[in-house]
Amino acid sequence: MTNIVLQLSTEEMAKVQSYYASDRVERNAPGVIFAAKLADTAITVYKSGKVMFQGAGAARESARFGTGNPAAKSVSSAKGDALPENFANLSVIGSDETGTGDYFGPVTVAAVYVPADKIELVRELGVKDSKQLIDDYMRKIAPDLMKVCMHSVLTLRNDKYNTLQAKGYSQGKIKAMMHNQALKHVLHKLSPERPDYILIDQFAERGIYYNHIKNEKEIVRENVLFSTKAENLHVAVATASILARYAFLKEMDRLAGTIGFPLQKGASGKVDEMAARILAKHGEAVLKSITKWHFANTEKAKTLLHKKNRD
Ligand code: MG
Repeated sequence: MTNIVLQLSTEEMAKVQSYYASDRVERNAPGVIFAAKLADTAITVYKSGKVMFQGAGAARESARFGTGNPAAKSVSSAKGDALPENFANLSVIGSDETGTGDYFGPVTVAAVYVPADKIELVRELGVKDSKQLIDDYMRKIAPDLMKVCMHSVLTLRNDKYNTLQAKGYSQGKIKAMMHNQALKHVLHKLSPERPDYILIDQFAERGIYYNHIKNEKEIVRENVLFSTKAENLHVAVATASILARYAFLKEMDRLAGTIGFPLQKGASGKVDEMAARILAKHGEAVLKSITKWHFANTEKAKTLLHKKNRD
């Protein structure tokens, strides 16, 4: 899928509107003066003179009116789709995941809807770029955010993760399925209202993402945009990353309760040592039930333990 943005004059904007008059659709998003939908392309005309062509037919349709303005394509150093003008102020469902690089604990995904009229409130509750937020702060603000924002948070526990992984599911596929699921849940809760856009914090190219979920019964496609660093582009993604982290921390707390001490995050040498200790004390089945078993840490922990037993 492609996104092409043209910057057009008033006269040219009028041409676009008359050309697609019979395909017009209602879109009450701020800043939007006209929207049309073809089988393979969505066309959106903004007050600013930007016209966005989105979908498989974007190149064909936009070529009728001009060539893309590269200056209008990106608003930050983030890689991904061109975002419409004023994107940060639109009503958006954002999604993000966490835990994928941690040997211990689950993969969690959250999708959160922040409508235009709640953006200020959510900022007021303390949402910033979550990479700058520390865990304790996220634990504090997440419950309020969940009260205020429509959301879906999914926690894939280690046993289920390991089963899927053993069946040949890549981590990319697991993540894509979870994002799709969480987005679907929020869309269902929201229905018949619709967001202006859905923004996924990009972990895979659009084509790869959709290939991962091609066999799903319901695939969320409409108005879906992808970008890296998406938590800087809309507060909905920043909120999603906080809720995903909160769910991750809660599951880590639960696992700490079963093992008797807090588990090391990440996948470093410290993790190997902790895993070796757990292996020695509780055995393989228990270690497997709290880890992403296919990580290299498993073999490293076994090696550490054998060494220790030899010494
Ligand atoms: Mg992310």
